[in-house]
This record gives sequence, structure tokens and C-alpha cells, in this order.
Amino acid sequence: MMQDRRGLLIILSSPSGAGKSTLAKRLMKWDDTLSFSVSATTRAPREGEVDGQDYYFLSEEEFKRQVADGEMLEHAYVFGNYYGSPKAPVKEAIESGRDVLFDVDWQGELQIRNSDLAPHALSIFLLPPSITELHRRLVERGKDSEDVIQRRMDKSWTEISHWGYYDFVLVNEDLDKTEAQLRTIVEATRLKRAQQPGLLGHVRQLQQEFEDKK
Ligand code: ADP
Repeated sequence: MMQDRRGLLIILSSPSGAGKSTLAKRLMKWDDTLSFSVSATTRAPREGEVDGQDYYFLSEEEFKRQVADGEMLEHAYVFGNYYGSPKAPVKEAIESGRDVLFDVDWQGELQIRNSDLAPHALSIFLLPPSITELHRRLVERGKDSEDVIQRRMDKSWTEISHWGYYDFVLVNEDLDKTEAQLRTIVEATRLKRAQQPGLLGHVRQLQQEFEDKK
């Protein structure tokens, strides 16, 4: 019944430290049919990062070529490096009916929304409970130097100020609660009429049966 269904683009954004990647990982664990859009970047790999798994690590030249050739669904320049979402794996997944999860910033969301794949996009913004807590989470995560944390904090308001462009907005206070809310949003969106093209056949069958019984 679902053979004609195109996959959804599920876009998660938040200021850095609010919980995007933690929640994206939880969603991926919850539903193994979800496909995660691995970003491409020109920044150097950090210790332990695996090419093709954490990011596709590209030279600036190669990145720019892919952008020029329309191979990036969206891209942005952040803190001196390029980031983008390669289009080919996304197209392949949604054409075979699989939903794709994106962990991108507001610039990415806007570009995905304006792309030809947009009718099937669902966007969710995560707000932190407070700016103090956002800072605490960045410190506690222990991945960034004080400098980088300060830069992320400086940028957080720009990110938060785009909250109004999203379909859903959640305050990520309790991780389990936010995860449950995300699941609810995904499940409800999958039940939208446009997401169930196979229903048309079912309704026709009901009609046939109805007529036959007259
Ligand atoms: P982002 O991907 O948005 O930068 P992360 O997912 O890396 O953020 O989360 C930042 C830090 O905050 C991590 O250490 C994570 O474990 C923690 N964290 C995320 N959500 C919550 C929450 N609801 N309550 C407490 N800590 C959280």
C-alpha cells in the first residue's frame, strides 16, 4: 500500500549545544528505516572522526565544484569552513520511500525548504531551556575549547531568532520527553494524507465494495 510514498525530509535545527545530535541519534535508534544525511565539510577531521560516517571530508576545491554542479542540497560557510548536504543520497533514499533526517542550521533549513524536494519537508526547531543551560551543556560536552564555546554562544541568538520558520518548536528540557515529542511529530506527519498515496487504492476498493452491496 505504501509503494508510491516518497520519503520525508526531517530537518532538526537548534543553537549549538541544545541537543540536536543527541536527539538525532536517538531517533535513528528508534527507527532503523530512517536514513541520516551525512554532511560534507571542508574542515579537517577531528580525532576519531570517520570519513563517510561523521562527515564527508572534502577539499575546498572539490566542495566548490560540487556546489557549482548542483550536487549539494544546501550549503553554508560557518566559522571559516564550508558545510553542506550532498543531494544524491537524499534523492535515492526518498525515492525508495525512506525518510531522511538532517541536522542542519537555519541556513540549511531555508535552502532545503526552497529546494525542489521541499513539499516533503518537515522542520523542527529545538530551543534550550535557558541560555545559562545552553552554555552549561556546551561546557559539559567537553568537545570545544573555551574560545569555540564563546563563538558558539555568540552565534546562538542568530540561530534562535529563526525559530519562526519551523513547523514545530520544542523546548529541550528533559531528553526523554523531547524524544517522545519528536516521535509523535514524525508519526503524525507520516499519517498525513499526502504521505499515504496508497490510500487512494484502498478508498477505491471501499467504493467498489459499497457499490457492489447496493
Ligand atoms: P548539538 O548537536 O545541538 O550541538 P548535543 O546533542 O551535542 O547538541 O548536546 C550538547 C550537550 O548537551 C551534550 O553533552 C548532551 O549530552 C547534552 N544534552 C542534550 N540534551 C540534553 C537535555 N535535554 N538535558 C541535559 N543535557 C542534554
